[in-house]
Amino acid sequence: MVIIMLGAPGTGKGTVAGILTSKLGIPQVSTGDIFRKHIKEQTELGKLAESYISKGQLVPDDVTIDLVKNRLKDSDVQNGIILDGFPRTVKQAEELDKILNKEGKKVDIVINLTTPEEEIIERIVNRRVCSNQDCKTIYNLVLNPPKQEGICDKCGHELIQRKDDNVETVKSRLENYFELTSTLVEYYEKQGKIYSALVSKAINKLGEDVAEDIVKYIENLK
Ligand code: AMP
Repeated sequence: MVIIMLGAPGTGKGTVAGILTSKLGIPQVSTGDIFRKHIKEQTELGKLAESYISKGQLVPDDVTIDLVKNRLKDSDVQNGIILDGFPRTVKQAEELDKILNKEGKKVDIVINLTTPEEEIIERIVNRRVCSNQDCKTIYNLVLNPPKQEGICDKCGHELIQRKDDNVETVKSRLENYFELTSTLVEYYEKQGKIYSALVSKAINKLGEDVAEDIVKYIENLK
């Protein structure tokens, strides 16, 4: 099963995808996480990606598509994948369709998360993530704080703030999203693949609640 997570930064894609991974046993692949790993290791790809990510811009399509194309060859994703943060442009979506088609596969469900903009900004500046690459649990200092400040509840590693999680970068990330990525919703709507959900504290629906609804929805499809 190929599941795609769509939604502006801060809507909870990572949180929802993480829960789906543990409930459905399908690996989550986040292009943002892969880029951050390369940046940490200062590979050539990392240096290139950093020059875009630090400005809140998208990494060019050809680079990102190549990265995903290679990741899709790995044995752990042959029975299913949750793509978190890819595709972000129609070009990426078209290329993904071509890659999957060649293997007799297709995108099954596209989960489209929406959140009011003022909540997004508040969430992003309060977001902290576990620095342990095998854990990567996401916290929110207001909505979902760790028990001990700065420490992951699950694995005890240090919590960090992503470099691009600041008010200035968030604005350009949101602009990019609404300019480029929102057309993807139309692309997948035409294919009848969209499952939309509002993630908002105003209606008392956070990522965890939405993930539960999605798991039920997917189980009913089987
Ligand atoms: P994320 O962790 O999904 O918020 O991604 C962090 C940053 O990585 C984004 O703001 C982009 O600069 C870059 N990025 C991640 N995925 C993609 C993608 N599919 N296409 C282009 N850039 C991406």
